[in-house]
Amino acid sequence: MTAAALSRLVPSGVSVTLVESEEIGTVGVGEATIPSLLDYNRMLGIDEDAFVRATGATFKLGIEFRDWTRAGESYLHPFGTHGRDIEGVSFHQLWLRQAALSQADLSPIGDYCLSAVAARRGRFTRPSANPQSVLSTLFYAFHFDAALYARFLRDLSERDGVVRVEGRVTAVDRNGETGFIEAVRLEGDRRVEGELFIDCSGFRSLLLGDALGVPFTSWKQWLPCDRAWAVPSERQGPPPPYTRATADTAGWRWRIPLQHRTGNGYVYSSAHIDDDDARLALLAGLEGRALGEPRQLRFEAGRRDRLWDRNCVAIGLSGGFLEPLESTSIHLIQSGITRLMSLFPDLGFGTTEVDEYNRVLLRDYEQVRDFIILHYHATERSDSPFWDHCRTMSIPASLSTKLALWSGKARVFREQGELFTPDGWIAVLLGQGIRPTSFDPLAAALPPEETARFMAHVREMIDKTAAAMPRHEDFITQHCAAPLRRSA
Ligand SMILES: Cc1cc2nc3c(=O)[nH]c(=O)nc-3n(C[C@H](O)[C@H](O)[C@H](O)COP(=O)(O)OP(=O)(O)OC[C@H]3O[C@@H](n4cnc5c(N)ncnc54)[C@H](O)[C@@H]3O)c2cc1C
Repeated sequence: MTAAALSRLVPSGVSVTLVESEEIGTVGVGEATIPSLLDYNRMLGIDEDAFVRATGATFKLGIEFRDWTRAGESYLHPFGTHGRDIEGVSFHQLWLRQAALSQADLSPIGDYCLSAVAARRGRFTRPSANPQSVLSTLFYAFHFDAALYARFLRDLSERDGVVRVEGRVTAVDRNGETGFIEAVRLEGDRRVEGELFIDCSGFRSLLLGDALGVPFTSWKQWLPCDRAWAVPSERQGPPPPYTRATADTAGWRWRIPLQHRTGNGYVYSSAHIDDDDARLALLAGLEGRALGEPRQLRFEAGRRDRLWDRNCVAIGLSGGFLEPLESTSIHLIQSGITRLMSLFPDLGFGTTEVDEYNRVLLRDYEQVRDFIILHYHATERSDSPFWDHCRTMSIPASLSTKLALWSGKARVFREQGELFTPDGWIAVLLGQGIRPTSFDPLAAALPPEETARFMAHVREMIDKTAAAMPRHEDFITQHCAAPLRRSA
């Protein structure tokens, strides 16, 4: 992703060399995304249908969370907005007010969100650019085959002049005085020199972590999951337009539908379940036949204390890791790329710009961290030591502040540059069963009957719009079926 972006966005006088090792390979997971990926693809001028075909992608309208509050309960975190505000009063405040009046036919808040209703009905179409249309409230992302996406971007980068060097980095040469990186050494006595080094070496963090020694701060106390088993399975039926995240005894299992297969995994805490039991739980939960043996991955939640140090920027897993519960890692890569482009250095590597990059990126990581912690902490589950730990653990002060604002009058604010929208927070807060004690007094000033009629109208419009949308499967067949799928 970084090489592809640089190949398109830097002037032709800047040369980009990509060092990769086929023998080491990539982490091989990372199939679910969030809507910001559309911006990345657009920034690179990628045709969306061509991208969907090349990566076996499906469309994603949100994430279904099963069993997170209690076994048997589920909710959807949809992309997109809930209802429409009236006179500056946010829709969720109207909904809470009507709920407080015990309005008999009040639907769950998800029924007022087009992405949620379409997801449940298995429908998809592209949104409308007309702000008057209900279809303009639809937001989407993709599920894709990460290896095929990497291949797609590699072809694009090479066509745009990126020079790809195959080989394993064995050493890093640094300037004796400044500590700046001067070159990486590859096996076979090769040396690649450079001015700016971007560390995309994954969990190894070869440049930022190993060579420059930037420390790693662990967030294990809040996010104890440190391993995953992953396995693809045969597709069963039409692919749903959403990811599923099912809470389990010591973590959670993902189900990600692609055109040609389903991706599955169990993210778990090794302190709370042993590897074999986790592997068996993953296999027992599959809907289709496993296509191969499960593969294990090990990680630790957290991030490096600086993501840009001297002339080295870490992008991707080399900079930090947050588990894929809200599909945010690829977004954080994108965020690193766009911030790097807007603060692109000269050979002076001004500290003001480097500091700004670190400030903004570290804040991004913390905001995503808090949102993920919320899912674990706001639970009633007490059926295993894992859930007892999550339910009773102390949480970061930044999250406590958000929860305090919510638990009184349901206030939700988007912090500067924050990825998750108030609608996202509202869906997860209500979905996780955190009901505020009250609501915005301005909502109480609105006449209840009129408000009820307005809400019923919104719900009906959304329902009709979703019912008129094509089935997700049919939309793909018509616009962007992958050749892989046709031959499957
Ligand atoms: C269990 C799990 C599930 C995930 N699911 C999602 C998801 O659903 N959505 C999402 O957004 N993200 C997800 N992620 C994160 C996502 O997989 C990564 O963010 C993404 O794949 C990018 O990884 P990377 O390029 O940083 O590292 P890698 O894929 O590990 O790539 C590292 C690269 O560095 C090269 N390299 C390493 N060492 C050397 C060396 N010595 N010499 C030369 N080359 C070297 C490798 O060959 C490889 O090309 C998930 C991660 C995990 C662990």
